[in-house]
Amino acid sequence: MAAFGTFDKCHGPAFIKGYGECIGGTRRVSNGFSPAQPRYGIDTLEGDAMAKRSYSADGALGLPELPEVETTRRLIHPLIVGRAITEVSVTRARMLRRQHQAADFAARLSGRRIVGTSRHGKRLLILLDDDLIWLVHLGMSGRLTVAERGDEEAPPHTHVRVLLDSGSEVRFTDPRTFGYTVVATQDELDELSAHGPDAWTDPPTVRELSGRLEGRSAPIKALLLDQAILAGVGNIYADETLFAAGIDPHRHGGSLSEEELDELLASLHNVLGAGIAAGGTTLDDLAYMLPNGRAGEYTAELAAYGREGEPCPRCGDSIRRDVIRSRSTFWSPGCQI
Ligand SMILES: [Zn+2]
Repeated sequence: MAAFGTFDKCHGPAFIKGYGECIGGTRRVSNGFSPAQPRYGIDTLEGDAMAKRSYSADGALGLPELPEVETTRRLIHPLIVGRAITEVSVTRARMLRRQHQAADFAARLSGRRIVGTSRHGKRLLILLDDDLIWLVHLGMSGRLTVAERGDEEAPPHTHVRVLLDSGSEVRFTDPRTFGYTVVATQDELDELSAHGPDAWTDPPTVRELSGRLEGRSAPIKALLLDQAILAGVGNIYADETLFAAGIDPHRHGGSLSEEELDELLASLHNVLGAGIAAGGTTLDDLAYMLPNGRAGEYTAELAAYGREGEPCPRCGDSIRRDVIRSRSTFWSPGCQI
């Protein structure tokens, strides 16, 4: 398999060599919450102009996707729930760019007790008393870890550290800073971005999905990445889902029959479930690692993604890579129709 994620420059945004994906670009700094729509090209995938835009952290940029975030949540949950926050340290204000004021972040967190964890799409939600939610979006290279007292010092690019009354420290490390974190009420989060139902815990019915795709001429691959339609799916799991369902990723979203949508939702469930069971996917240089320092093991199970030129495990034809709306798309023309 070709090496993933060798980064280069393409007119500003970073570029994954050989994969045709512009993965960076717009830097946004704001005192208030960003408006809900439209912010990034990925939010509205219709139209060539949008496709040419570069994407930012909400942009379904591949990893980490839902299985990686869910794995992270499960690993940190027992280490943080029930603990009170005693100290907050932020060394890179960019990570808080969606907070009203950077100082708000620390003020809202300090003294709060963590009462639970949740997740919506790729957004990890740490639930606090007083109905506040500490949201962490891992972006492209973010990692959330919990260091025990006496553990080694925080690694480079640790921008946010939150000390708990247990002596443990929650660390948000993100070399590429596409991730972000914010403490907000549910209403404020709703204002922050429009997210569809979670692809794993709250998947739409065939009828609901059919309604959302009705009349849509965008390729189904692009629509699967639209977090406003379905939250949590990124490039890798979209390709794997379409492969498993035997659906050509170029098909217009509105052209899929109810039977095909049924197959698509079943495949999505299976692929995400397998991804979660394996602890997610880790690609070289894309930096997703579990909080326990291990790599996700779904990488070996990828049937189509990253396998350009290899024989399709189902029909034997070569796996092809096309670029659909600026995103690398791996598929088998022999058996995806
Ligand atoms: Zn095939």
